[in-house]
Amino acid sequence: MGTDFLKSLYALIRNNPNPSEHAVEEAFDGNLCRCTGYRPILDAAQSFNSRNNCGMAKSNGGSGCCMEKNGGGGCCKGSSAGDGDKDAIGPKFPAPEFKKWSPDTELIFPAALRKHDFKPLVFGNKKKKWYRPVTVQQLLQIKNIHPEAKLVGGSTETQIEVKFKAMRYETSVYVGDIPELRQFTFHDDHLEIGANVSLTDLEAICEQAVEKYGSARAQPFKAIKKQLQYFAGRQIRNVASPAGNLATASPISDLNPVFVATNTVLIAESLNGEKEIPMTEFFQGYRKTALPPDSIIASLRIPVAKEKGEFTRTYKQAKRKDDDIAIVTSALRVSLSETNEVTSANLVFGGMAPMTVSAKNAEAFLVGQDFTNPATLEGVMAGLEKDFNLPFSVPGGMATYRRSLSMGFFYRFYHDVLSNLEVMSEDLDPDGIAEIERAISTGDKDHEASVAYQQKILGKASPHVAALKQSTGQAQYTDDIPVQKNELFACMVLSTKAHAKIISVDPSKALDIPGVVDYVDHKDLPNPQANWWGAPVADELFLAVDKVTTAGQPIGVILAHSAKIAEEGMRAVNVEYEDLPAILSIEEAIEAESFYKHSPFIKNGDVDEAFKQADRIFEGVSRMGGQEHFYLETQACLAIPKPEDGEMEIWSGTQNPTET
Ligand code: FAD
Repeated sequence: MGTDFLKSLYALIRNNPNPSEHAVEEAFDGNLCRCTGYRPILDAAQSFNSRNNCGMAKSNGGSGCCMEKNGGGGCCKGSSAGDGDKDAIGPKFPAPEFKKWSPDTELIFPAALRKHDFKPLVFGNKKKKWYRPVTVQQLLQIKNIHPEAKLVGGSTETQIEVKFKAMRYETSVYVGDIPELRQFTFHDDHLEIGANVSLTDLEAICEQAVEKYGSARAQPFKAIKKQLQYFAGRQIRNVASPAGNLATASPISDLNPVFVATNTVLIAESLNGEKEIPMTEFFQGYRKTALPPDSIIASLRIPVAKEKGEFTRTYKQAKRKDDDIAIVTSALRVSLSETNEVTSANLVFGGMAPMTVSAKNAEAFLVGQDFTNPATLEGVMAGLEKDFNLPFSVPGGMATYRRSLSMGFFYRFYHDVLSNLEVMSEDLDPDGIAEIERAISTGDKDHEASVAYQQKILGKASPHVAALKQSTGQAQYTDDIPVQKNELFACMVLSTKAHAKIISVDPSKALDIPGVVDYVDHKDLPNPQANWWGAPVADELFLAVDKVTTAGQPIGVILAHSAKIAEEGMRAVNVEYEDLPAILSIEEAIEAESFYKHSPFIKNGDVDEAFKQADRIFEGVSRMGGQEHFYLETQACLAIPKPEDGEMEIWSGTQNPTET
């Protein structure tokens, strides 16, 4: 099992020795592992869940576990889902002796960390300074002296800026260890939360709020909790903060619409004092907010809902249900009089404009209407159509789909609110109200699939050679190999242009960085032929020569004493390009006679004859649009020059060793 999975499992069991099935599954959202496979990982993790009294986890007490009773060879947990397991596969390796664990065992946690006394810290050098204040007053003083300082909470946004947008901050201030920014207080009419409370803690606070205020009055907190359920994975929520979401002001933020719709008030603090900013006035443009430059976001006052006649709901559509950024996200709120007349409304959307926005036309129409009158639904839809008449060229695309989503969300909201009012049941569309939840993952292994083809070895399931090592965490990966003497780290300089002439490459600034050892490019290869690779035709260059034909094409390599320095060096290499024209469609390629010379058509059999004999021939054009690919995993490779005959020992995670 990948170490990330082990860390997630450890954190889960540490925080909650009796997790539910859902909590177990949720703890692994966002983890990636290509070696072990997800089914066995989830099966192993689910053996810790509170319903499961068997499995490896709960082996002592109770009924005991098969692992314990028969010395391994498969767990009794598997017997219901896959009785065939043992018979079909048979024990292929001796079962490892797992340490037993009982839920009342205290998992090891360094006592020194528990007792750690937080003190203000500062460290760094001439180029970069890090501050870690532990009171708001200290933070404000630092901000006063360094107004340009970058505040860092969970760093889930900041790291994207640093890693992928090459942003550099000379002064950074970590605000995650300031208790005042992480506390919360229940008041009669509002809940005040510290702006840098973690989102995981915020989920728990929302649960407490439901207990404290009751279901109806706690609707804003239920709405926040629901948004958080579909907000990134647990690892992100463990560190990310509302302040980070607010200050980033992303147009697709999930929390910001709720804060606007619930009329939350943001408290900004500077050395000059406190300022209350209504959330309805906070967002001013693309990633632009009303936060004064000398201020920090200190807290949020989230109003409690009225006991009767107020309804708040949230809706989000992403490409997948959990752990994904929104296409459209929204928080909708109405307040009704005793006669169901709308007294106030907030219809707030993300993904429909360069910032979190209110649907002004729809809101204006809604106020004063009888909510239960079907004409109200029609009128709001017309208002939304005006509010979100996005042009087809809108950034992010999908103009029609996004507008349909905004209307679909209101449709669901309308029927959900109606279901809470005394209305005729035929006016209700119950199908539109409920949330579709993903069921707990299950999986079986099909041992029968290859029975018909089975031979002595072929067709039989057998664990692959590294299975035990990978699933117990013993496998050593390239990156785990201890650093060798004189080892250098390489970082590639990649093209930022899709099609361009390389006018010049100047690595001098990179070479000035202490720790950068060298810059190499195609000129350092023994001969021009050594720069070509590919099969069956070697038609790709390792390192660009005078032109780049794709963004991300390697141009050269920076060598340095650490991976971090190599990355810094890579960013300092100055490449000058001259843009070349691009051919972007098949038609343009045919027109320009721009063909791959070596690639033959895939032709099998007598195509002309087959067409002649076909009963019907359909002709048409099919096009595939852009594709998105989530990264899989980072790659590492270790090359060790050997003293004899220019030999090179290569450690590489490759499926093609002969070409490495
Ligand atoms: P940081 O990165 O620490 O800071 C972000 C900004 O806030 C910085 O400019 C920082 O200076 C500023 N800041 C932090 N604290 C303060 C303060 N007290 N006062 C003033 N400024 C402050 N977002 C969503 O809305 N929905 C998602 O589903 C979602 N999924 C994500 C998935 C992944 C994998 C990642 C990496 C991010 C995702 N995000 C998502 C975005 C991000 O997690 C959130 O915006 C998060 O709330 C940022 O919080 P943070 O504490 O990590 O911010």
